[in-house]
Amino acid sequence: MSQKKNQAIDNNWYQKVDDVADTEAAEVRKSHIAGTGVFAKRDIKKGEIILPVTGKKLHESEISEVDRSQSLLQIDEDWYLMATGTIDDFLNHSCDPNLAFTPDGQSFFALRDIAKEEELSWDYSTCENDGEWKMKCLCGSPKCRGYVTGFPALDESTRQRLLPLAQPYLRKLYG
Ligand SMILES: [Zn+2]
Repeated sequence: MSQKKNQAIDNNWYQKVDDVADTEAAEVRKSHIAGTGVFAKRDIKKGEIILPVTGKKLHESEISEVDRSQSLLQIDEDWYLMATGTIDDFLNHSCDPNLAFTPDGQSFFALRDIAKEEELSWDYSTCENDGEWKMKCLCGSPKCRGYVTGFPALDESTRQRLLPLAQPYLRKLYG
């Protein structure tokens, strides 16, 4: 199972960037990472909850080949959230992100103070449990790992660092 957010340019919902509802703190715009991204509309304080994690909940057995070309966010061993075109679907990956999952896995919160206009991002490895999956990373961070991978493929020190920020099912599996 792979999460292909950055390659999802052929999806219908992806084309309708102008129709994506902003929130009070975030909006969708062109990004240097992958064409489109989500940006801070105002200064954000460390610890603030910024966006809910949304999507259509699908069991592994319900996911078709078409769905597999969409953005999928893994939330349990056989469960995924499929992108439905809401603002959280446009968040790009970064190896040095400014957002992460809240402990319940249902929202993104600010890992640090974020300035107005900064691109918002999270680490895709904190939800994906497929050890075979990898995607070339375009984040451009000095801390870039080169490839975005599933959680099991991370090196031990990265895994330990990211574990508290991972989806709850991963904390159970690897904690
Ligand atoms: Zn990177």
